[in-house]
Amino acid sequence: MAETVETPAIVLDRIPYGEADLILHLLTRDHGLVAALARSARGSRRRFAGGVDLFVVADVRFRPAGARSSLALLAGAEPVRSFPGLYDHLDRMEAGQAMLMLARDLLRDAPAGESTFLRVVEALARLETAPPDRAPLEILGLAIALLCELGHPPVDESCPACGEAVGASGVVAVAPDGAMLCGRCAPAGAVRFSSSLLGGTAREVEAGPVPARADVLSLVAALVSGVLGRRWRLRMGTDT
Ligand SMILES: [Zn+2]
Repeated sequence: MAETVETPAIVLDRIPYGEADLILHLLTRDHGLVAALARSARGSRRRFAGGVDLFVVADVRFRPAGARSSLALLAGAEPVRSFPGLYDHLDRMEAGQAMLMLARDLLRDAPAGESTFLRVVEALARLETAPPDRAPLEILGLAIALLCELGHPPVDESCPACGEAVGASGVVAVAPDGAMLCGRCAPAGAVRFSSSLLGGTAREVEAGPVPARADVLSLVAALVSGVLGRRWRLRMGTDT
């Protein structure tokens, strides 16, 4: 029987399973993304003492998946850090949920090490104190950070029309069909952003005006779709 392992982790999503169980996608510090069965997690709050809630870093113990099960089996989860500021504003909470979805989808088939785990924790910590109207920029900041972790710095992606780096002209554009192009090749109706927005983190636009929420989310969708090679978008709160 496999040894139980222990690592800090954060829940990316929770899927109800059976009568009282949960299937969790955990982003762990030491073992990458782990799908784990949490028995009776819905039956008793005491079973995992808040360690399997959203927006909590927990020290988790689990038996890794093996020949008998494709899921790891969660043995314990002790909360070590929470992000209560996320619950102060609906915008922050929605952005936090979007961050978890983003991490889950981007990291599903990718190796995720300690620095990736820390990027997600750091993003939640930043979001906790972000002005609510800037919450979407924090999602963008995490998308950029994770794409850099995966070896796809967004500013270097090539424009599908001319082949130059999308950031080369100083303007990045998202076309109505969701494609990301350089500013020179952008068709009418494209949303334009300063390429400094893709240069590092959302910090770089803190001094500037806040781009419209829908525009920021379409930029995140264009970035992630480009890397996943399929159409991808965030589903958030009031969106359908
Ligand atoms: Zn171009």
